[in-house]
Amino acid sequence: MVSNTIQCGFESHSGHSKYSCHSVHGSSGGSLVPMTPLDEGRAAVRNRSARTGFLLTWLVVAAASVTGCADLRSLAAPPGARPGVDVPSQSAVGSSMRLGTPELAPGGQGGYTFLRSRADGSPVAFDPCRPVHVVVRPDQEPAGGRKLLLAALSEVSAATGLQFLDDGTTDEAPGSDREPYQPERYGDRWAPVLITWSTTAESPDLAGGVLGRAGPYAFGSDEDHLRFVTGSAVFNGPALDTQLRQGEDDKAKAVLLHELGHLVGLGHVADPYQVMFDTNAYPLPSYRAGDLRGLETLGLGRCFEDY
Ligand SMILES: [Zn+2]
Repeated sequence: MVSNTIQCGFESHSGHSKYSCHSVHGSSGGSLVPMTPLDEGRAAVRNRSARTGFLLTWLVVAAASVTGCADLRSLAAPPGARPGVDVPSQSAVGSSMRLGTPELAPGGQGGYTFLRSRADGSPVAFDPCRPVHVVVRPDQEPAGGRKLLLAALSEVSAATGLQFLDDGTTDEAPGSDREPYQPERYGDRWAPVLITWSTTAESPDLAGGVLGRAGPYAFGSDEDHLRFVTGSAVFNGPALDTQLRQGEDDKAKAVLLHELGHLVGLGHVADPYQVMFDTNAYPLPSYRAGDLRGLETLGLGRCFEDY
């Protein structure tokens, strides 16, 4: 079994911010980009004990058209994986129908990278024939945070064709050692993607001005059959709340877009005009051409019939 979680961060420093990624879990996922905090500055932390309810039930679907998946694989339980202990007790019934179609990405300049690729160069991605289940822990959610999150998820969905399904709220806390299979909490299936708004007190990884971290969890019987089955994104709630209250909506949205880009498999680029640039040189409230081409490629990934 090959699995790992990749976590990425967004660090802010005197008006600009820096992203970083590191691998924090697993047997074969080497470090991608070392986490190198830029400064000693810390985002403002303010305790907000009020729970902001997550009243809006949402479903983000990219496109109504359905296309077939070209490359189906059927596998037994990966060697070393213990059904019902490490992985769901039964392999899910796979689908051969892609749930959405990525928007045609624009031409132009701007590249993209992937967090993880197979030997043939294809990126590891979420199975586009299955919905990506998501839960949100609403604690510390900034005013306007939910609206921003939905807008960012909608852009990811449109660009990839991935369908995000709202599984409601959770009280699960963020953590770098999150288990991808939690039957007691989520039932006999992969745990849904966890999105949390947190604080530096709860999440030490957010110290030093880090505004967010995100990463997918890859699973497969071998490198060639890896796919993302879950993931997590943790955002610095108080810091983003401050940004939003100061009217810096575009900056805050760039954080969400960047981290959600990591969540679905994008890595960093050297082009400062892309959302996936590792430094937040410009507030970019929408994905750019390079980002979109990368997201389109991720959305055209392989479908699986196992797990
Ligand atoms: Zn990043």
